[in-house]
Amino acid sequence: MFYMKGNLFVISSPSGAGKSSLISALLKRHNDMKVSVSHTTRAPRPGEEDGVHYHFCQVDEFKSVIADDGFYEWAEVFGNFYGTSKQAIQEQLDQGIDVFLDIDWQGAQQMRKIVPDIITLFILPPSREELENRLNKRGQDSAEVIAKRMQQAQSEMSHYNEYDFVLVNDDFDQTLDEFERIVLAHRLQTGNIESKYADLIRQLLAKS
Ligand code: 5GP
Repeated sequence: MFYMKGNLFVISSPSGAGKSSLISALLKRHNDMKVSVSHTTRAPRPGEEDGVHYHFCQVDEFKSVIADDGFYEWAEVFGNFYGTSKQAIQEQLDQGIDVFLDIDWQGAQQMRKIVPDIITLFILPPSREELENRLNKRGQDSAEVIAKRMQQAQSEMSHYNEYDFVLVNDDFDQTLDEFERIVLAHRLQTGNIESKYADLIRQLLAKS
């Protein structure tokens, strides 16, 4: 039977660069790709569902997962805690599913140390003005929160060059195609092909 372990990807961007929409659009095209659902102590935004967008939890619950070593990585962002739980990701990779971690640059730095062959992508907005427009249009955050997010955006974007790939999300469909090509190309990496076609490779290289 063919077996291939899934690949693990980190996708980072400032809030409003279109990361979540790109990930959801790609998941609609492929049923063997999933996004990891992080834990967070921030309050749900309108329309966000527990277990779908995040596992929403209280600070003491979050701290007990840290104490049990249940997170690959965690970080404090905008005064709230966010973390990636180990269990869910490993189960999906073992089933051959590609998993996306929608996490910030701090999480990406931690994940690179834990999983050296992780593939990292950074999404940039086409301009500062467009980023601010998109945050305003979302209508989910107060003016004060948006101003804070614009300040944080600059600091987040200063880490773009630590990533393997950078996408500038100007035209959504084009960026989605680029994102898809990166993910699909990684399925053809030598290590993945060696596990998927182990029998074939053995047969081809056998001395006759
Ligand atoms: P938001 O509150 O807008 O959903 O997310 C705020 C920031 O937290 C985003 O940059 C997002 O990528 C990051 N984030 C979400 N989940 C995690 C996580 O599990 N770990 C880390 N390090 N960052 C996360």
